[in-house]
Amino acid sequence: MRIGFIGLGNMGGPMAHNLAKAGFEVVGFDTQEVKVDQVKIVSTSKECVSNSDVVITMLPNGEILKSVANKIIQHMRHGSIFLDCSTVDVESAKSVAEISESYGIIPLDAPVSGGIGGAEAGTLTFMVGCQMEGFNGAKKLFDIMGQKAVHCGNSGNGQSAKVCNNMILGATMVATCEAFSLADKLGLDRQSMFDVVSTSSGYSWSMNAYCPAPGIGPNSPADNNYIPGFSSDLMLKDLILSQIAAESVDADTPMGNLAMKLYKTFVEEEDGSGKDFSAMLPRFEKKSRD
Ligand code: NAD
Repeated sequence: MRIGFIGLGNMGGPMAHNLAKAGFEVVGFDTQEVKVDQVKIVSTSKECVSNSDVVITMLPNGEILKSVANKIIQHMRHGSIFLDCSTVDVESAKSVAEISESYGIIPLDAPVSGGIGGAEAGTLTFMVGCQMEGFNGAKKLFDIMGQKAVHCGNSGNGQSAKVCNNMILGATMVATCEAFSLADKLGLDRQSMFDVVSTSSGYSWSMNAYCPAPGIGPNSPADNNYIPGFSSDLMLKDLILSQIAAESVDADTPMGNLAMKLYKTFVEEEDGSGKDFSAMLPRFEKKSRD
């Protein structure tokens, strides 16, 4: 099987490498000059896709995905798989799927959770929207790049699952950080706070697996000066996508909306850009009640 891989950045690079390491012929294309071990880099997207059985994209956003899709779909083989792993808005995912199908190509939207570490280790989780035929066709690739792939239903549902998950994550991280800040001000030490909450009803992935307080709980970006991990910028992107999705179906999402506004201020007006999304904790430490 030949795989064409477009978008060889922080995530795409290691994902492509893992596929090549597993024995697939992987041909890569990126607009930047990139090098990926065992992957043959070609100079056009056409060259990347035209003889490939599967085309994988890992791109920054929906606009770029749509422009790449418009360039490549006409050159892809009839019956080949178009596996988009980028995080994009639900509407872009659905429109790319529709065009792909009209050319006899099998589309999958399969955004991931697990970050750069998961991409490198091949332990990503894929949330996948597609027909069952496509899911079965890509299964061996999910097994190499990830530890779990969940079929979520039709095209667009992978992105829907991703925005819902990350809306919970953003709101939960904010809640965890503000609670630590309140505990500090009430004179409760952080270790006691962690010991109680991590084993009580306030527990969450943000507290238990990714604790935003340095030196407390498991090792996390907080212990590495809030170097991402998962950046506040990417969290903002995903929260914006969640609110675009919510608006499109008239869903009331006040917590997601507030989390989005907090991360927007943090990234654009405070010093949050480039920091891990758990750096909300030092941000709350500095603030007093409005
Ligand atoms: P990145 O910016 O490191 O990589 C994107 C790559 O796409 C870059 O190398 C860029 O040059 C390339 N690119 C841009 N336009 C292109 C075009 N027209 N044709 C070909 N290549 C093009 O970003 P990343 O961190 O690898 O993230 C990729 C996607 O994965 C995003 O949608 C992001 O939201 C999602 N994601 C990232 C993480 C993470 O922790 N980084 C976690 C989960 C999901």
